[in-house]
Amino acid sequence: MPGFEIFGDEERKEVQDVLDTGVLFRYGFDGVRKGYWKARTFESELASRIGSDYSHLCSSGTAALGIALAACGIGAGDEVIVPPFTFIATVEAVIFAGAVPVFGEIDETLCLDPGSIESVITPRTKAVLPVHMCGAMARIEEIKNLCSQKGLILIEDACQALGATFNGKALGTFGNMGCFSFDPVKTITCGEGGAVVTDHKELYTLADAFADHGHDHIGNDRGLEDHPILGTNFRISELNAAIGLAQLRKLDFILEKQRAHKKAIKDALTAFPEIDFRVLPDPEGDSATFLSFFLPDEAKARETAKSLNEAGVDGCFYWYDKLSVQLLDHCPDYEKVELPKSDGIMGRTISMLIKLSWTEEELSRRIEKMAGVFKK
Ligand SMILES: *Cc1c(COP(=O)(O)O)cnc(C)c1O
Repeated sequence: MPGFEIFGDEERKEVQDVLDTGVLFRYGFDGVRKGYWKARTFESELASRIGSDYSHLCSSGTAALGIALAACGIGAGDEVIVPPFTFIATVEAVIFAGAVPVFGEIDETLCLDPGSIESVITPRTKAVLPVHMCGAMARIEEIKNLCSQKGLILIEDACQALGATFNGKALGTFGNMGCFSFDPVKTITCGEGGAVVTDHKELYTLADAFADHGHDHIGNDRGLEDHPILGTNFRISELNAAIGLAQLRKLDFILEKQRAHKKAIKDALTAFPEIDFRVLPDPEGDSATFLSFFLPDEAKARETAKSLNEAGVDGCFYWYDKLSVQLLDHCPDYEKVELPKSDGIMGRTISMLIKLSWTEEELSRRIEKMAGVFKK
């Protein structure tokens, strides 16, 4: 999974370029930066890698979500439909935009169930924010169609899904805007960082300004720039961008390794009939950062997670006790939220992290240990 596993000379070289100029910032200092624009270069390489017209690099995935919500004009009084199985940042970003997160259900893709969206739409619904969890896709085409039909904005949280595709098209490029994270545990890392992508010039212009106090970034004298909107500081430093640039260039290598490691484990586990695998609407497009599977019931899943841990199979997660909806339980309105379908699915789910750095021997030992647990 994480790019930090393959930090090396390529990252050091990019950082050294920046250190040699002393220009640690992404804007300004044109005369002394010796032509190095790491953040800008990252943005253009990311956009062309995933096939979006525009990309803006920022300080985190959480910042990216905040930027996307702001650029799309989502704020006080608006409702945003989110899945209950996500990292809490998705929900936090909606709340900090002044909007209200409304939970739909997930399905066996472990992502927002398109069939559950309609029943939670109200006159205040402004956007749908599906999350491509654990490196793979929601039923994004169906969600997109529904959003078009209902006139809703679609923002994709693709923070965990860089490099993943659906029918050959990059996750993050289906909606009005897509968000990525390059935090310490994501597919590639900047140390800390994030990005928004979009095909809409006006959304890009707003995003680019919002992330830097509303600066319009026209001309090469920051002191003379206009501030057409109010924004905030979600800037990335040139040093973090430099690391990310080297990592982005390793993305194909990362995906290839992850996919091979995941395939070996998944193939071995098909021998155990009590295991069902997460549904992938397009298996080819999986970035393979995790292998997620279902046990027959919650008791069996809890017991299996414990046995895997005891057998020394590290990196296994039983997420059910940590759903984001539970973190809002102390808000009176959320105590009443009932998500029986998501409960049923997450109660049975275990996810296993796929590492890049496993050797062949480590991989076979892991498979043996897992087989030992499932044979019992
Ligand atoms: C990591 C993550 C984020 C937030 O990214 P940061 O860079 O850590 O702020 C948002 N959403 C999801 C689904 C994530 O996994």
